[in-house]
Amino acid sequence: MASPIVLVIGCGVAGPVLAILLKRKGYRPIVFEKVRELGTAGASLMVMSNGLKVFNMIGVADAIKAESLPLKALWDAKASGEVLGQSDLPSTFTERYQQPAAGIRRTSLNLLLKNKVLEEGIEVREGWGLVAIQEHDDSVTATFSNGESVTGSFLIGCDGIKSAARTILLKQRGVEEGAPSFTGLTQTAFLSETPGPLQDLAAMRNWYGDGTHVIAYPVGPKTTSWALTQRETQEREETWRPFTADEMKTQQDALCKLLEGWDESIVQGVKSSERIIKFGLFDRDELKPEQWYSKRCVLVGDAAHPTSPHLGQGANQAMEDCYHLSCALPNLSSRQDFESNIAALGAISDIFRPFAESRQPRTSVLVKGARALGEKRVAVGAERGKERDEAVAQSYRGGAAAIVEKFEGLLSQPFN
Ligand SMILES: Cc1cc2nc3c(=O)[nH]c(=O)nc-3n(C[C@H](O)[C@H](O)[C@H](O)COP(=O)(O)OP(=O)(O)OC[C@H]3O[C@@H](n4cnc5c(N)ncnc54)[C@H](O)[C@@H]3O)c2cc1C
Repeated sequence: MASPIVLVIGCGVAGPVLAILLKRKGYRPIVFEKVRELGTAGASLMVMSNGLKVFNMIGVADAIKAESLPLKALWDAKASGEVLGQSDLPSTFTERYQQPAAGIRRTSLNLLLKNKVLEEGIEVREGWGLVAIQEHDDSVTATFSNGESVTGSFLIGCDGIKSAARTILLKQRGVEEGAPSFTGLTQTAFLSETPGPLQDLAAMRNWYGDGTHVIAYPVGPKTTSWALTQRETQEREETWRPFTADEMKTQQDALCKLLEGWDESIVQGVKSSERIIKFGLFDRDELKPEQWYSKRCVLVGDAAHPTSPHLGQGANQAMEDCYHLSCALPNLSSRQDFESNIAALGAISDIFRPFAESRQPRTSVLVKGARALGEKRVAVGAERGKERDEAVAQSYRGGAAAIVEKFEGLLSQPFN
């Protein structure tokens, strides 16, 4: 067996993509996933051009686009529906950045990625939750919740915001990290048939009200994904959950009451909602680049830089991580023997260090930006609401050039 084993922890978004990219470079990835069987995940994701370019490298971009309805426009309005600004820039994303932006249900994306990993002949061990890591000079041993241990050349922690890999690596350096921190905002998310007035334009739509923000985008030709953000205290945590079929009518009525006076199309969406789920939004203090890796381990995606979702960049940045890390690791596919492969890897932290040093500053800016944007969106009071609405309207007044500038730095990455 000439290929070094790579222990990939987590079969969410980053894990499967890295596993496929590394298999193609001559490694033998094994993916370990804590959850025994993928369930119905509540929310959806907006995959932007930067993320879709990497999904395209592993051959799933077409399936994402086929299921979705790629974005043609951005559209922002006051709660009443009075338009603050609109742009058709997203209709040019493919031409500018090779790929469009497209919304997809999280469950669909997770399943698509898991099936692609299996199709590539990569082993996925479900029900294997990482609990311990032991690092040696040229290998690493991971121990799992079922008591089994597996040794590989190196380990990649793709295990999300509650990453065990992160906790273990930090602990080795004497840092005890608590639970993720609540941002003070909750989201109520649901899917619905796309209401009539929204059917003519596949847009990412934002509505801004007093202390409440609503975002909607298509996740299919006839389906829209919605998320309503509010300020709340963590004392109400017991109300955060997927609501049962019996609770749907009460929840729909409560949302309709909250949205009285709002654009009628949102109320239509609520009334035809399929499944309502409420959750808190969390992130974590940022890590320094040197905390992203150790002698034989490295963190990527939410394990390294968990973010609240307001910029829609968490998964997209995870894709950028996958691209850069896989490029940094040597291509072993033409090498014949195990010894020369191990020699090619050298001191692997010399590969992890520049990866972390180049990725940490970019993701840090985006994590902070997402938190700040979330705060702005739910401005409370007439005066602050007016300032926010004016700022949104102003962002469109610079015309196409100003909006291009806003997206260029994001979407032209990780390659163009
Ligand atoms: C409401 C919401 C909306 C969002 N919207 C967007 C969006 O529009 N666009 C965007 O780009 N991003 C969005 N994000 C962020 C995005 O979901 C994350 O950034 C992305 O999923 C990170 O990918 P990941 O692979 O690092 O982690 P995850 O996708 O969370 O995957 C981690 C995996 O590791 C597994 N795992 C956990 N612990 C262990 C363990 N100990 N051992 C083994 N396996 C383990 C988990 O079960 C999971 O399968 C959103 C997030 C939220 C909460």
